[in-house]
Amino acid sequence: MNWEEQLRRNIRRLEDLPKEFVVSKEELEFFRRIKNMETSRSGVSYMPFSVTEYFLSLSDYTDPNCPIRRQFMPDPRELEESPMESDDPLYEERYRVSPRLIHRYRNRVLLLVTNFCPLNCRYCFRRYYKEMEPDVISKKELELASRYIGEHREVKEVLLSGGDPLSLSDSKLESIITRLRESRDEIVIRIGSRVLSVLPDRITDSLIEVFKRHKPIWFVAHFNHPKELSPRVLDKVELLVDSGIPILNQSVLLRGINDDPQVLAELFEILVRNRVKPYYIFQCDLARGTSHFRVPIERGLTIMERLREVLSGVGMPDYALDLPGGGGKVSLFAVDIERRGDNYIIKKREGSREEYVYPV
Ligand SMILES: *Cc1c(COP(=O)(O)O)cnc(C)c1O
Ligand code: SF4
Repeated sequence: MNWEEQLRRNIRRLEDLPKEFVVSKEELEFFRRIKNMETSRSGVSYMPFSVTEYFLSLSDYTDPNCPIRRQFMPDPRELEESPMESDDPLYEERYRVSPRLIHRYRNRVLLLVTNFCPLNCRYCFRRYYKEMEPDVISKKELELASRYIGEHREVKEVLLSGGDPLSLSDSKLESIITRLRESRDEIVIRIGSRVLSVLPDRITDSLIEVFKRHKPIWFVAHFNHPKELSPRVLDKVELLVDSGIPILNQSVLLRGINDDPQVLAELFEILVRNRVKPYYIFQCDLARGTSHFRVPIERGLTIMERLREVLSGVGMPDYALDLPGGGGKVSLFAVDIERRGDNYIIKKREGSREEYVYPV
């Protein structure tokens, strides 16, 4: 089955799960509550359930705590909002320079080419974006973004994100890249995608040809747990790297999924052996309904210390946080962190007056 057919067979309703899949009481509770929400039109929104058959097949059908399963099975705690959570935790709206273009850092921009993903990760920080109908960048929006990039020569890199850019067809993707290259033929293109982990068959020979035609393109993957690195996935990783496409990995530190130095060490070691550089591990952002996934920063730092002892520099990612309220990305190894009551106070530099508050 090709990847497009696989996507059409995505599991989006409780009834579509295999019979052998034992749904837990909590998971059922989520579905019960959203059903009531729809009928009462209470206006509260939530991220729809959607998982590929492939990723589902990696999960344990009888263990609700399975680290694969927890990434796609909803939890009723998602319908609760904790203090400081929001729909736009990174304040991206403030840095939007055209409908889908976010210019937060001087030398790089983020282009949101679609809001669709093959799998809805329950901890997604752009969940507000995913509650809308699937929507893909229009010709006019691409034109506006490309013109902006053409006029802003300080921008050296454009990140395609969303949603998952590789949920688009090869031809749509190539038309986007071609238009960007018309504006700036030397610009570095970075594609952030989770398909390697959730829909590996998306990596086709023809996709690789697109990448090769439009060098330089960097691939940024998203693996959270060693169980995601199946032989089928590693074959695709090899195909990409052998074709000259460099791969970086971004993970999210997730409670009960990968907040364990042994699990992360295994993940990063396998990645390095397969020529993927662990780039970032992110502190979970303050998106609405994600508090049950968050690991306290202090514990995160302890985990990273343990990792430093066992990993090489190549295997060690940066532990980063996108500061709430649009403060930008910082390395948690390089900021000043102080505990004040139920919060951390984060300063970009010691002695700085600018303070960012993050819950414990
Ligand atoms: C993360 C991010 C980038 C890329 O930052 P790097 O540190 O280069 O990976 C660019 N723009 C925005 C808005 C981002 O959130
Ligand atoms: S792949 Fe990324 S954008 Fe898509 S649902 Fe997962 S975290 Fe969100």
